[in-house]
Amino acid sequence: MIFSVMLVAVGGLSGALSLRVAARWSVPAGTPVRAACAACGASFAEGWRGWVAFTSCPGRCRPAARDTALAVAAGMALGALLGWRMRPEAAPEALLAAAWFVLLAAGLILVRIDLAVRRLPTPIVWTATAGCLLLVAAAATTAGSVRLLLAAIAGGAIYGGVYLLMAWASAKARRARIGLGDVRLAVLLGTGLGAISGTALFLGALLPYILAVPAWVFLLRRGEGRHSLFAFGPFMFAGAAIAALT
Ligand SMILES: [Zn+2]
Repeated sequence: MIFSVMLVAVGGLSGALSLRVAARWSVPAGTPVRAACAACGASFAEGWRGWVAFTSCPGRCRPAARDTALAVAAGMALGALLGWRMRPEAAPEALLAAAWFVLLAAGLILVRIDLAVRRLPTPIVWTATAGCLLLVAAAATTAGSVRLLLAAIAGGAIYGGVYLLMAWASAKARRARIGLGDVRLAVLLGTGLGAISGTALFLGALLPYILAVPAWVFLLRRGEGRHSLFAFGPFMFAGAAIAALT
């Protein structure tokens, strides 16, 4: 119970903290992270003070307060669902919930970045994957179950492997629909989903396509679906979250 309440609180906090990180990382590939707000030009502070903040902008950008409220609500909702679904009373379940927390907190950041600049920065994805895998390993140790860890590793390898094949195929067909960012994200999500169950992995990999259909139809109608590179990361995260949390 206490751990579940903590998940909600830390979820809200992570939601608020995700805004600044996402704003600074929302830059094209190969460009250094932002040193100033894209909208008003206010400079971010040096060092960690420029990263640890509850708003995207250190200046006076108007939508910042509403964004914070939305991000906090999203983080709290994810924390609540995680506590409800994982029932983290004993150590293995609590550690598994923590692993999923890392994954979802990274999601709060990555979804924003993907929507803004259509990329998933590698350092964020790999850091989250390492954190998630370490916590799953700790859960496996406390549960005395090597299978749990192996299932997580297999999940990441399978989901990532399928996306790697698709990325290779779409590059050959000169239709860069699936990028390497999506492949790395598939490794992260597959690790988390594999730790839950094979069914969760299957559902989590399938759902993004079902969820993306309405968005794709909408873009097609506007005449931009065929060639526009639309951000698939948010659908991958949503699919994984639904598969894991329901
Ligand atoms: Zn600003």
